Amino acid sequence: MPALRYAGVSVGYDRTPVLTHVDLELDPGQRLILVGPNGAGKSTLIKSVLGLAPVLAGEATVLGESPAAARGRAGYVPQIDTLDADFPVSVRQVVMMGRYRSIGWWRPARAADRRAVADALELVGLADRAGHRFGTLSGGQRQRVLLARAIAAEPRLLLLDEPFNGVDAVSQEAIIAVLRELAAGGTALVLSTHDLTVARELADLVCLINGRQWAVGTPGETLTAG
Ligand code: ADP
Ligand code: ADP
Repeated sequence: MPALRYAGVSVGYDRTPVLTHVDLELDPGQRLILVGPNGAGKSTLIKSVLGLAPVLAGEATVLGESPAAARGRAGYVPQIDTLDADFPVSVRQVVMMGRYRSIGWWRPARAADRRAVADALELVGLADRAGHRFGTLSGGQRQRVLLARAIAAEPRLLLLDEPFNGVDAVSQEAIIAVLRELAAGGTALVLSTHDLTVARELADLVCLINGRQWAVGTPGETLTAG
């Protein structure tokens, strides 16, 4: 079963399409990079997979279901500025919220949940910050916490919206290494960026988006030199 299949899909807001006739298929463990300038529709496409932006036409299948039915089974790493840095919680609590998204909100955390949270923080290299207040971390560290929050839910499909904006080089390298490891373990990835270097480094598949135009292919087919 593909992690993601879009056939003739239009996405947008208030019946105004941002992207139309999108055809995509992503298998487990594949890395799809969405590349395009600001306003091209990368976030909208990602949000449509999460059921947060409407599919106006065509057929969208996420982990074998409609986006609405798959809601919460796909992991999501939003841009850092969308989570308030003043939020008075610890790093561990932020990551536990991601775990709760997958286990449901009605039961107390068990040892397995605490272990999943600790493992996720270990993976992103922030085990020593678990007790720190989220807002005291650097931008790059906060982005890694949001990655850990998504990983703690053990998603089969993980979507990341511009995860390298305002992120230092050390954190960027750490995130890229974690993403490679997740994909090697079978997690399908969708990542948006305006950075062609990131796309070349990470992509199995590239979706180039510009205006209403888009093209999907291997990095060799879609990314020309320079
Ligand atoms: P990108 O992620 O590539 O920067 P977006 O998906 O955020 O692009 O934006 C694509 C288009 O959709 C833009 O023209 C933007 O103004 C519009 N848009 C984004 N969010 C909304 C919204 N909530 N309601 C209406 N239009 C939106
Ligand atoms: P729910 O009703 O499922 O709890 P909300 O509508 O209250 O969701 O909140 C959705 C917000 O949660 C999104 O804007 C997004 O920032 C965040 N979020 C974090 N992880 C996910 C995920 N895996 N799927 C959907 N939204 C997510």
